[in-house]
Amino acid sequence: MRAALMRAVGAPLEVLDLRLDEPRQGEVRVRLHAAGVCHSDLSIMEGRIASPVPVVLGHEGAGVVDAVGPGVRSVAVGDHVVISWVPMCGRCHFCLHGQPQLCTSGAYTPGLMDDGTTRLHDGDNPVHHGLHAATFAEQTVVREGSVVRIDPDIPFAAAALVGCAVTTGVGAALRTAEVRAGESVVVIGCGGVGLSVVQGCRLAGAGRIIAIDTVPARLEAARRFGATDIVEGGDKAAAEVRGLTGKLGADVAFEVAGHPALQRQAWDMTRRGGRTILVGVPAQDGVTSFPSLLLAVSEKTLKGCYYGSAFPPRDFPWLLDLYRAGRLDLDGLVTQTLPLEAVNDAFDAMRRGEQLRTVIDLAG
Ligand SMILES: [Zn+2]
Ligand SMILES: [Zn+2]
Repeated sequence: MRAALMRAVGAPLEVLDLRLDEPRQGEVRVRLHAAGVCHSDLSIMEGRIASPVPVVLGHEGAGVVDAVGPGVRSVAVGDHVVISWVPMCGRCHFCLHGQPQLCTSGAYTPGLMDDGTTRLHDGDNPVHHGLHAATFAEQTVVREGSVVRIDPDIPFAAAALVGCAVTTGVGAALRTAEVRAGESVVVIGCGGVGLSVVQGCRLAGAGRIIAIDTVPARLEAARRFGATDIVEGGDKAAAEVRGLTGKLGADVAFEVAGHPALQRQAWDMTRRGGRTILVGVPAQDGVTSFPSLLLAVSEKTLKGCYYGSAFPPRDFPWLLDLYRAGRLDLDGLVTQTLPLEAVNDAFDAMRRGEQLRTVIDLAG
């Protein structure tokens, strides 16, 4: 099958034929139809986040189950599914204590299946499964806990986005931050995830929704997705946010870009006693500084957000119901569709700050 292979940090992806094994115990093979292109893939390609290589990247995906291994009970051949990039085992401390997004089942074996091997091969060489998903390919094999069945009438492109950007963004607003009606919020970074935070805040009935970005087209998009105010990113943004919030700062500030300086800026934009939610994924060697005295006495909550604090079997169908009802715009997030052969063009556009979301069409 055709797949996009990353051989080394800094190299473009190479689209070639790879061999994919049959699914083993507790595994599912999916014929992928659509894969979204997420910024975390670019961070891996450019070395800001470590990954074993060679690896097939791509962690947003939707398709149809075409084979199941022994013991698989929750899905069957022919089911339409969305891939979840956090495999959830249902047995670890976190799965059993209401935080399945922190499941440790795959956390310490990046790129490998539970038996410590891979189903992907380049000739005789094993190839890793990027973020346990490997969706830049015509097919993938994942754990049963990495697929969520969805209704077959949902378009694959919209479904794919629910696999990362939309679940992370809407979840950040409604699950992680628990934004309440009337609260003022600020969202720094308006790509696919940030615009989903904006939509989540709109669904929560937030009062002021202030969107910040340096790209004018993204600020225009933020207005379409529910922002009430837009602010150009930069050193003056914090003062503007204070001006829009009665000099207090916002009840909730989301950092979605994944930069230490912007994490600090989000905290500065949060009112005393408010919540700062860190959604963006920074480089793994980044360090963020906060003033020690104010960190204590301002009583702000500083909270990380992983995968929108989501429980995929609960949240993917919920988000797609909102989409079907016209209350969550997923189609508007997709501004470019490319074949797998052009996957590097999607990353070039991302580097230039173009496109909200590119979807790779794998239906061929
Ligand atoms: Zn992602
Ligand atoms: Zn678990």
